[in-house]
Amino acid sequence: MSHHYLQLIPGDRQFVPTGDAQKKAAEYLFDVFPEKGNLSLEHFPDCNGIEFKEFGNVQYISAGDNDRWAFCPSCRRQFARESEDLRDLGGREFEKTWRKTWNLAYESGCEGLTLEMPCCGQVVYLTDLTFDSPGGFARFVIEIDTRQELLSTDERHRLEDILGCEILQIQAAV
Ligand SMILES: [Zn+2]
Repeated sequence: MSHHYLQLIPGDRQFVPTGDAQKKAAEYLFDVFPEKGNLSLEHFPDCNGIEFKEFGNVQYISAGDNDRWAFCPSCRRQFARESEDLRDLGGREFEKTWRKTWNLAYESGCEGLTLEMPCCGQVVYLTDLTFDSPGGFARFVIEIDTRQELLSTDERHRLEDILGCEILQIQAAV
């Protein structure tokens, strides 16, 4: 059975909320998810709580098994992030480049990395790719180990007020 969790990231990928705002957000989220009771900083999958993470550089925040489609930012061509579809798009060469670029992204962050897209020949920034699930790019993420689908609109707005940024919700499964 898949394990589901919710990830909340700022709409602006470089934005990291202040420590004070994060503390207030934690208090608020424990009201929304009272069963989480105490602040757990253990890393998923042992985490039974709510985890706040900051990164030194922009990371791809994956939706896990829900990751499926990506879109070329230049021509909007949709493609699956699986070997078969990557090879359909641009042959083995593109598949190799795609993997190499993502490995670099995991090591040193996504900002500034580019890809030449075989669909339209345009060189695009990795951070301009969009996803259907959605995965997203961020330097800050709140991970909530919960079955609850998503924050309600009211809850999201309240959290946005506290953190001082727009919030995107990523439902992830592993
Ligand atoms: Zn394209």
